[in-house]
Amino acid sequence: MIVMAEHAGFCFGVKRAVDAIEKALSKDNHEVWTIGLPIHNPQEVERLEKLGLKVAKDYTEIPEGSKVLIRAHGESLEIIDKLIAKKIQVEDMTCPFVKKAQNLAAELSEKNYHVILLGDKNHPEIKGIIGHVKNNDCEVIADENEAEKISRHSKIALISQTTQREERLSKVAGILTKKTAELHVCNTICKATSERQDSARELVRKNNLDGVVLIGGRQSANTGKLRDIIQSENINVLWVEDENEIESNSDWFKNKFEIGIAAGASTPEWLIMNIKSNIAQKVNQGGIHS
Ligand code: SF4
Repeated sequence: MIVMAEHAGFCFGVKRAVDAIEKALSKDNHEVWTIGLPIHNPQEVERLEKLGLKVAKDYTEIPEGSKVLIRAHGESLEIIDKLIAKKIQVEDMTCPFVKKAQNLAAELSEKNYHVILLGDKNHPEIKGIIGHVKNNDCEVIADENEAEKISRHSKIALISQTTQREERLSKVAGILTKKTAELHVCNTICKATSERQDSARELVRKNNLDGVVLIGGRQSANTGKLRDIIQSENINVLWVEDENEIESNSDWFKNKFEIGIAAGASTPEWLIMNIKSNIAQKVNQGGIHS
């Protein structure tokens, strides 16, 4: 038996950006670029590249006269200004939830708050938010331990990466309360993330599962968070990117009769369906039994 998580796959922000890329590729006469991968899912990137999308490692690679779609993770103001100065057409598809975090970072740093970002300092979303802070003057912390090391400031603004967990934000806020007389906490965790996290938790708690197949790109932060949540419920997780990995992990399915499926916010529907039918074939062929 296969049970799907209620909320799985593309979130609103990613779907909006991917739809815009497809539309630009079908209508525009000029080259269509993104800076960095448009989505943390290699199979979906490959599909878009086949349609003509070009992915630049850096904005300097993009030729004058082309079009750039800013991906859902967003971009720094400096890079957007440089693109415009190079006469490159910019279509900003930053997810509105990320935009909210960027705007708060800009606004609160202007009001002389010391901005602390809770998230992964190497993630493009955090880099883009840093690029909205006045003079890029902020600190990025990953967890409670790093929050303890923050020195005292007269005013602190805490802003979270959209994929953070609520529990961690609350704990970090509790620690930072002791470091300032004025703490402004911005809960910029997006609903799509918490919906997928709650769905994964419910999937495990409401069903008597033998394991969960988690579908998503290995670079996807929100898929990584789903894995942590499922594992914290003491359930075995098989994290796969495509249907080939179902085949190459046949042993994992032995003695597993009830399988749950969860998917990160950057996993396209077509890929979930492919993988689901591969798992179903195994069930039907008795492949799930040892
Ligand atoms: S996970 Fe949330 S913030 Fe990130 S792109 Fe999707 S909807 Fe936007």
